[in-house]
Amino acid sequence: MKTIAAIATPIGTGGVAVLRVSGDGAFGICDAVFRADGGGKAADFPERRLMLGTFSAAAFDERCLAVCFTAPRSFTGENVVEFQIHGGAALARYVLAALLSAGAVTARPGEFTERAFINGKTDLSGAEGIIRLINAQSEAELRAAGALADGKLYRLCAKMQDLLTDMLAELETSIDFPDSDAEAGGADTLSPRVREIAGTLTGLLATGTTAAYVRDGINIVLAGKPNVGKSALLNALLKAERAIVAELPGTTRDTITETLIYKGVKMNVTDTAGLRDGADAVEKLGVERARTALSSADIVLRVTDPADDSDDGKIDGALAGKKALSVRNKSDIKSGGRLRNGSNTPPADICVSALTGAGIEELKERIYTEFIDGGVIAGGLMLTETRHLDALSRAADALKNPSGIPELLAEDLRSAWLCLGEITGSTASEEVVDRIFERFCLGK
Ligand code: GDP
Repeated sequence: MKTIAAIATPIGTGGVAVLRVSGDGAFGICDAVFRADGGGKAADFPERRLMLGTFSAAAFDERCLAVCFTAPRSFTGENVVEFQIHGGAALARYVLAALLSAGAVTARPGEFTERAFINGKTDLSGAEGIIRLINAQSEAELRAAGALADGKLYRLCAKMQDLLTDMLAELETSIDFPDSDAEAGGADTLSPRVREIAGTLTGLLATGTTAAYVRDGINIVLAGKPNVGKSALLNALLKAERAIVAELPGTTRDTITETLIYKGVKMNVTDTAGLRDGADAVEKLGVERARTALSSADIVLRVTDPADDSDDGKIDGALAGKKALSVRNKSDIKSGGRLRNGSNTPPADICVSALTGAGIEELKERIYTEFIDGGVIAGGLMLTETRHLDALSRAADALKNPSGIPELLAEDLRSAWLCLGEITGSTASEEVVDRIFERFCLGK
């Protein structure tokens, strides 16, 4: 394989730019362009130690740092040299040109990581974790990407593949020698073990929903009768005066959506117009919008206040099948024992005060736990990649109804094994592998 080089930092002006060279020729190329202050050849530089020296390009000399990684102890698994030079678009380009004339070829986007995959430094899902890590926008995305890059999915899939291999071996014995010891490897005795793997897969697939929340945010809709304090609650959640709070019922005529970040997860909160009868035309429009917002809600906060703890009956239709939390607002007001509707046991999941802020953080935490914490399996693993969801659901399908006929069961186990291999990369097609690395940026 050729020795590749690229600028690893974004193109533009900055404090430092990093150029990376990887391949058999990396140390030779380094010797051709870089002279360490203490002398010596790249192959003899102390490993992973920054060396100060002079980089000689055609037109100029650049004082910079070089660091060498000896195969296989490098990101790519090959000999690698990285140069830290002064940040500057022209400077980086000239330094790259010097590396190319010394024998390197320009790396394709993602080629360094592709080589890491080819050289067994990472599996395919780990490489995808690196892309996610680079593109992550929030803390929760970072954690999920970190788990993937760390090889957590890889290890889980490899373990399931091992279990399947063991079972296949047992099955094959029972197929070849049907009379030997039917008890040992018979299809029937294997089915609990198959179901166990199917269970693991189902748990893993469920994390895909969580991953979507992490990526797109949780849609929260505030619903309830006019004047219970929905606008005030939106403000309290955002800690900002965005929605107009007024004492007259029906002042929130439209839906307002604002996004807050809690523990690194986006929460898109929509305040709806109160759903009232006999409202004017403008408010009717607001009510219509509220219904639309409700239909795309991940969770509806059914807001009530101490004066009236009954739900807004008109929203019930729109709520069918939705996750909901009943929120009693205005906890700062004493309800005086009996509520207007005659009950004295407030049937709320959580009591808050938009005015004083009491219970607001607990409310955010409840939502976070419901959607995020509960949906992540040990080690922070969740399925962010459609490719993984697809392969794992095919694996789960294959194991769903284990057949009692050894030949058929063996076929299902084999097909699940292949699906799992697509994730780690051992059975992924070249086309899939190429498509994954094309998504990388240059120099990664
Ligand atoms: P919405 O129609 O449901 O959006 O209600 P608003 O947010 O406009 O609030 C209606 C009235 O209730 C306003 O006078 C608010 O000041 C008042 N309010 C809202 N939240 C609280 C609260 O937690 N405590 C008290 N005491 N008053 C509140």
